[in-house]
Amino acid sequence: MTIPVSAASAAVEAQALLRAIPKVDEALAWLSPAGSSAAAPARLTKIVVRQILAECRRDILAGRLRRPEELSRERLLPRLAGRLAARLRPNFRPVINATGVVVHTNLGRSLLPETAAANLAAVAFRYSNLELDLETGKRGSRYSLVENLLCELTGAEAGLVVNNNAAAVLLVLQTLAAGREVVVSRGQLVEIGGSFRIPEVMARSGARLVEVGATNRTHLRDYERAIGADTALLLKVHTSNYRISGFTAEVAAGELVELAARYDLPVMEDLGSGSLLDFSRYGLEKEPTVQEVLKAGVDVVTFSGDKLLGGPQAGLILGRRAIIEQVKKNPLNRALRIDKFTLAALESVLRLYFDEEQARAEIPTLRMLTTPYAEVRRRANRLRRRLKDLPPESCGLELVRVNSRVGGGSLPEMPLPSCALALNPRKLSLNQLEKSLRRAAIPVIGRIENDRLLLDLRTVADREVAELAAILREVLA
Ligand SMILES: *Cc1c(COP(=O)(O)O)cnc(C)c1O
Repeated sequence: MTIPVSAASAAVEAQALLRAIPKVDEALAWLSPAGSSAAAPARLTKIVVRQILAECRRDILAGRLRRPEELSRERLLPRLAGRLAARLRPNFRPVINATGVVVHTNLGRSLLPETAAANLAAVAFRYSNLELDLETGKRGSRYSLVENLLCELTGAEAGLVVNNNAAAVLLVLQTLAAGREVVVSRGQLVEIGGSFRIPEVMARSGARLVEVGATNRTHLRDYERAIGADTALLLKVHTSNYRISGFTAEVAAGELVELAARYDLPVMEDLGSGSLLDFSRYGLEKEPTVQEVLKAGVDVVTFSGDKLLGGPQAGLILGRRAIIEQVKKNPLNRALRIDKFTLAALESVLRLYFDEEQARAEIPTLRMLTTPYAEVRRRANRLRRRLKDLPPESCGLELVRVNSRVGGGSLPEMPLPSCALALNPRKLSLNQLEKSLRRAAIPVIGRIENDRLLLDLRTVADREVAELAAILREVLA
């Protein structure tokens, strides 16, 4: 048998390269005097060194690493130090959202007002009255810390908060309708963010879905025909993340409530985004508020804490006392309960709603949604000015009018006129620029549109403008 000369010599070269890979201790010694690893635990440093040496071995065997200089201290040390520095940064950290999507699910949805963050920190460091009634000295309920506020703000008789709205929907269905039927319009069998689908959540709750009407039109008589001995509940789902337009018909909550009353059935509405204030007063699209839904007589309503409410991740359940009491007693509630940090943040956010102007000014989600175009434009101008001495041959910079989006599956058709800095890099490709910004010490997330990278200033805070300018200078340098 003959081995081709080239293959044989490649194998000999690979053997030589493998022998030239530095030993773990040798590479560790390179790192220690450099100072860069001073803060790194020895164990983590060793893991990183082993990883990089294993990568070298793999690259040699795959024929990707062919030259001995690639294994030199000079080449490997920066790579080791870089990887170690990356490993020392928290995996979970702040980013600059320059996408213009206000309730951005991938970027943490809603930001907390400063007062809420402070309240959260206060109970994080110290013991708290989470389940102690300070009046009586007896065991208290964590839910009572926010239940009153929720009732005062919305007119609900009672309320409960769980981990998120998906949990709220599951818990209410399981409590009121397990083993029985729930009537829903075909046009409202929504999917939210891939994994939450009304029919699937319904199946998990043990309730049986009875679909009525057609995709585009459902009438009151459709619901009425579906009501039978096994019916437990009429469910309305707010189609928060899409719109059916054209020849459509939906039954209003009030009509559904009247029908349900005749059959002695409760009505539930999954509001999804759940706003406490009327966005149409700020020039945005009309969304039903939680107060309006309850006033229409809906018996139990569920919504998210971190969509239009602008609070922490949570699922709010509000409604008639008898129903809420039943839900509270469900053992599943214990598995879905919220933690003390969420409660602390939620309470602070709710308190802001007693003064609508204060809520709008201090709750970042509301502030960003209602910031006028002119103000976003001024912010964009400030950013542009901080970059004015960038050499024009490095990157084209231009302020452009764009549309921001609400996001989070809320107000899907509502474009928010906004202002973006459009970057047209001359030395990097658009993808390289996007990647460098994403990998910066404070990652910057924008969007590529029409062969430009857009940084939409609606979702960038005033205090982030200087930071953003510094990052852009560094990346474009
Ligand atoms: C967003 C949404 C949910 C899920 O809420 P989470 O808080 O994300 O769990 C459920 N129903 C509707 C209609 C929604 O819009």
